[in-house]
Amino acid sequence: MKPAAFDYVRAESLDEALSVLADAGEDARILAGGQSLGPMLNLRLAQPAVLIDIGHIPDFDRIEWTEDGVIVMAGARQAALLADEALAARQPLLHAGMPWIGHVQTRARGTVCGSLAHADPAAELPLLLSVLGGVALVRSASGQRGIQAADFYAGMFQTDIRPDELLFAARFNALPEGAGVAFREVAERHGDFAIVAAAAVADAGGVSLGLGGVGDTPLVYRWDGLTLDLARDAVWELADRLDPRSDPRADGAYRRRLVKTVGLAVVKHALETRHAI
Ligand SMILES: Cc1cc2nc3c(=O)[nH]c(=O)nc-3n(C[C@H](O)[C@H](O)[C@H](O)COP(=O)(O)OP(=O)(O)OC[C@H]3O[C@@H](n4cnc5c(N)ncnc54)[C@H](O)[C@@H]3O)c2cc1C
Repeated sequence: MKPAAFDYVRAESLDEALSVLADAGEDARILAGGQSLGPMLNLRLAQPAVLIDIGHIPDFDRIEWTEDGVIVMAGARQAALLADEALAARQPLLHAGMPWIGHVQTRARGTVCGSLAHADPAAELPLLLSVLGGVALVRSASGQRGIQAADFYAGMFQTDIRPDELLFAARFNALPEGAGVAFREVAERHGDFAIVAAAAVADAGGVSLGLGGVGDTPLVYRWDGLTLDLARDAVWELADRLDPRSDPRADGAYRRRLVKTVGLAVVKHALETRHAI
């Protein structure tokens, strides 16, 4: 199938993109890497009147390391963040989780912010933003606001971004000193969307576990004071309380079993790699 007809605007500046967005609102769609939007257009799941291409805005692909975390602007490709020399040392959870996103080819085009904005419930980057904490910086012609990671996801493929706003940048919070981290997922093949993905951060106070593919949005749980000998009971008790979604790829019972195995594995690994502070 071919896409329905649309107008194409190649934005040369952020102001131009925001001005077109202000006029077109819900009739417009931002085009970033096109790795999700392309198929959606072809299948006519999206039929925007205007496509605003933000891939050519100068200086819109910066990645900045600050004490608070890494700030990734909307033009930055997933491959660029993965290739960043600071990533392994300064943000090892992103370094562990990002190779699971699609394939070399899709990461070369797909942007970090595009994946965050697309809000696929099984995508790795929304899960990583949710478990690390951080801020989504959104901008419209009338100003900028920051949305805390915990408030950003509103449902399956839904965020708090308004029709006249775009995701300008995202900050993934820095890890607490000495934190241990782990990421794992199960999918039919490497590069497929996760059936269940799990990410854990163990800090001095306890452990946070993030789960993707289980609910309509990434889920994050926290246990203060959790130790290795209590980990199995904690994760299994959580899994038994969850009502994981079912779809043609896997039913809820299978996803619950994956939370028990993969969730427990990441919690244990994060605890084992935590350094004394
Ligand atoms: C074969 C294949 C396998 C894949 N496997 C995975 C996988 O395992 N895990 C995974 O997470 N993803 C996977 N993807 C999707 C991929 O990661 C996409 O790159 C990502 O979902 C979207 O990023 P993008 O830059 O391509 O955004 P686009 O496709 O350009 O846009 C996606 C959506 O987000 C909106 N959008 C984009 N940028 C912004 C912005 N700055 N502000 C507001 N709205 C915006 C668009 O309007 C659109 O609705 C796969 C894709 C393919 C083709």
